Amino acid sequence: MPERIWNFNAGPATLPLPVLEKIKADLPNYNNTGMAVMELSHRAKDYAAIHAEAQNLLRELLTIPANYKILFLQGGASTQFFMIPMNLLSQDQTADYINTGTWSKKAIKEAKLFGKVNVAATSEDANFTYIPAMDGITLTPGARYLHCTSNNTIAGTQMHVFPDSGTVPLICDMSSDILSRKLDVSKFGLIYAGAQKNLGPSGVTVVIIRDDVIDMSKDTIPSMCQYKIQAEQDSLYNTAPTFSIYILREVLKYFKTIGGMKAVEKENAAKGKLLYSVIDDNADFFRSPIARDSRSLMNVVFRLPSEDLEKQFIADASAAGFGGLKGHRSVGGIRVSMYNAMTLKGIEALTEFMLGFMKDNG
Ligand SMILES: *Cc1c(COP(=O)(O)O)cnc(C)c1O
Repeated sequence: MPERIWNFNAGPATLPLPVLEKIKADLPNYNNTGMAVMELSHRAKDYAAIHAEAQNLLRELLTIPANYKILFLQGGASTQFFMIPMNLLSQDQTADYINTGTWSKKAIKEAKLFGKVNVAATSEDANFTYIPAMDGITLTPGARYLHCTSNNTIAGTQMHVFPDSGTVPLICDMSSDILSRKLDVSKFGLIYAGAQKNLGPSGVTVVIIRDDVIDMSKDTIPSMCQYKIQAEQDSLYNTAPTFSIYILREVLKYFKTIGGMKAVEKENAAKGKLLYSVIDDNADFFRSPIARDSRSLMNVVFRLPSEDLEKQFIADASAAGFGGLKGHRSVGGIRVSMYNAMTLKGIEALTEFMLGFMKDNG
């Protein structure tokens, strides 16, 4: 077994090896402070530089306009499921949600605690194997916002076209595909993502929020939950998850060094092209249940001819140094999670293994 496996975990997920090595080197004595990063005060100058650089790198990589704040919060994307309606929705108001799977459903459930929810479109009729057409969605006049999930980590689908919400703020859960492709941030009122898939470790959630959405937010809810306070205090109202933010900065620095979004997007496209072509070219052995126009470049879900073969595939893959390939229990089959830090090399190795397995068992 190699020292490091090809890690296809769905989240937390693999990180770039140079980043892990940098963290290790920095660990006992960060920047000549005589302390590790997690021992610094969150008010210290050295920490302030980390916090600001992580924000600046995100702003630069995603070309985030000046009228957006970048927040680093805790509680995961799941906390945003309730924090969004807690700030923006009241009992007599309606929010529109697009339901494309498990995570959308959880977001909808939380929103219902605060106000009315209209499901503007859903693909539940086909077990979430496709993304509904965005020109056929039914929006509520005067809705507070429209919520969507850009990549469905469990189902294996991804939005390749975003809905047009008009003047209503568009809110998107990008937990599993943020920074994987170029993005027009100006189309969104709020973007959020737990860091542990594409950006870094768990413990920090990135929220990119437009100033007018902060202005729409309530100031009659607990301080920690107020976007207004978190923005005014630059996410330092209380102790920030400093070590997670430091790792986030290292990951962002790494993506910038290798060529920024252009390079990341290109690598992700090449990974998807290779893996889906092996699936499609061998369709009587590997079967993708996902509608072609809805396929995810981050989580590739496929089936084998039998559940026994799927079990054997996962066991043989594990013995050969490929981990994390078991599909989510609600879907079954195989899931290849290949976020930004997974290289084309990893997909080349995996597809070679897949073809060998097919030859031996097909
Ligand atoms: C993983 C995931 C979540 C949950 O994230 P937590 O940070 O664990 O709360 C939410 N949405 C999507 C799309 C995810 O992939």
